[in-house]
Order: sequence, then C-alpha cells, then structure tokens
Amino acid sequence: MDLNTVAAIRQARERADLALAPGEAILGGGSWLFSEPQNHLIGLVDLTTMGWASIEVTESGLSIAATCTFTELSRFELSASAPAWAAVPLLRQCCTALLGSFKIWHAATVGGNICLALPAGPMTSLGAALDAEALIWMPDGRDRRVRVLDFVTGVESTVLQPGEVLRSIEIPTRTLTSRTGFRKIALSPLGRSGTVVIARLDTDGGFAVTVSGGTDRPVQLSFDALPTAGELATRVHGIDNWYDDAHGAPDWRRAMSAHLAEQLRTELAVTA
Ligand SMILES: Cc1cc2nc3c(=O)[nH]c(=O)nc-3n(C[C@H](O)[C@H](O)[C@H](O)COP(=O)(O)OP(=O)(O)OC[C@H]3O[C@@H](n4cnc5c(N)ncnc54)[C@H](O)[C@@H]3O)c2cc1C
Repeated sequence: MDLNTVAAIRQARERADLALAPGEAILGGGSWLFSEPQNHLIGLVDLTTMGWASIEVTESGLSIAATCTFTELSRFELSASAPAWAAVPLLRQCCTALLGSFKIWHAATVGGNICLALPAGPMTSLGAALDAEALIWMPDGRDRRVRVLDFVTGVESTVLQPGEVLRSIEIPTRTLTSRTGFRKIALSPLGRSGTVVIARLDTDGGFAVTVSGGTDRPVQLSFDALPTAGELATRVHGIDNWYDDAHGAPDWRRAMSAHLAEQLRTELAVTA
C-alpha cells in the first residue's frame, strides 16, 4: 500500500547513512512496512543498497546479512559454496515457515523478519535454534552482539535501542555441524505457524529443543545428552509464555509443541 506520510526514501551506501532522523525508519524488504499504515513515519532508509554479501562462509561459521532475502537463504544449500554441514537444510526449512508468495520471499529479509519480532518469525526460530549471534550496529559507531535467542523479548518487541540496526546474524560452526530436525504446525494448511519446534543434536551429544511461534518469544531447552521422553515432556510443559491469538490457543500450542518435540527426540535418537 502507499505510505502517504512518507515523503522520501534514502538509499544507504555507508554506515553514516544509517543515522536516522526523527520520523525515519529502516527499510528492509518492505513486505511488512508497506502492508499497513505507518502514519508515524515521514521517511525510510533503504538498507538493501548497502551492498552487503547475503551469505558468507567465515572461519567461525556462517554470516547471514540482515538484507539476505528468504529466496537467497532458501537456495544456499544448493549453492556451490555451501559446506556439507549437517544443519544446512534447516535454513530452507525455516524459510518454508513463512507462507508468502515468491514475491514476498524475494523481498522479505532475514533482518526485517527478526526485527519485526512476530512470534511466528521463522528467522528468529532459525537463529535461536542454532545459537546464532546478532551483530548490532549502534548509532555511535560501536557494535554489540546479542544471542538471537535473547533478541526478541516479546510480541513485536526486541532489544534494539533507537537508531540501532541489525547488521547480520552469525551462526557458529559448532551448531552448523549438529544434526537438526524441524517441525511446524498451523491451524490451517496455509496458516501462520501455531508453533515451530527445532531440535538439535550436537556432535558432543548435547541436545537442544527450541520452541517459537507457540510462545511470545523463543525458548530453548538444553540437555547435556538426549533426554528421556518424560524429561523432555516435563521441560516443554514447564514453558510459561505460550502465545494466545487467532493462530492457536495456548493449551493447543503447548500440546502440539510437546508432541512435535517428542517426534524430533525420537528422530534424532536414530543414528545416521
Ligand atoms: C503473505 C505474508 C505472510 C507473512 N507471514 C509471516 C510469517 O509467517 N511470519 C512472520 O514473522 N512474518 C510474516 N509476514 C510479515 C513480513 O513480511 C515478514 O516478517 C518479513 O520477513 C519482514 O521482512 P522485511 O525485510 O520485508 O521487513 P520490513 O517490512 O522492511 O521491516 C520490518 C520492520 O523491521 C525493521 N527493520 C528491517 N530491517 C531492519 C534491520 N536490519 N535493523 C533494524 N530494523 C530493521 C523495519 O524498520 C520495520 O519496522 C508475512 C507477510 C506477508 C505479506
């Protein structure tokens, strides 16, 4: 939709261009910004013109730029530069939890998804499940890092302070080499996620289940080794921030999360 109060869109080319004037906001892919009135905004600063490489294999793992689109991320596992890390298929699996057309997938960015901080934000699910760090650019020129697990603090609420920009998320090799499992359920075939459950079995035997979508912010349950069914169920039922909206009641989300977590525990228990 037209944003009638927005008089200008600045194209950012360097970090200094990201200094926001009053009434300006960062523009990622715009798939949410242009979907509803933004009467408090008079300007947008386009982040996609920064020219950041979308996905980089680094010495410590994978760096995914905030401007990386769903389309680019979903294709990474097919690219020649993708290392044979066991967790790579999870990148595409998480993209599929956003049921948008190809137009949305071409526009929507990893950073926009995490900064919007909807409970059903699949990039938050991805980053939280793989212990990614969010690299945040502060307006005074300094950087800070926060675990993606801690970045979203509630519904449409994050740790970002005014003027801060999410630059990238960085996934460590430690979790990229883990075996992972993914489950998503919704009330209707094309519905928004009622809950997303991701399990991770690390090479040192550690096990983690991350629940998002069903909760108002992501929750990770960690174990030193594969838990028993009872141990896992107790921990899932102990989660106390189930989300309640048209996409699922809290008791349904709790029951489905426990059910899907148990499926994943069983799946990952099988030696590859
Ligand atoms: C059909 C459809 C289905 C959708 N389904 C889902 C869904 O299942 N789950 C879900 O979470 N969302 C969903 N959305 C909402 C939205 O499209 C996505 O969350 C998308 O990923 C947002 O990314 P974007 O780059 O388009 O963000 P934008 O619209 O550009 O920005 C979103 C917000 O984040 C801020 N922002 C963007 N990038 C940064 C950055 N790097 N640093 C700081 N702030 C930033 C913007 O200022 C804005 O406030 C859906 C939208 C549509 C149209």
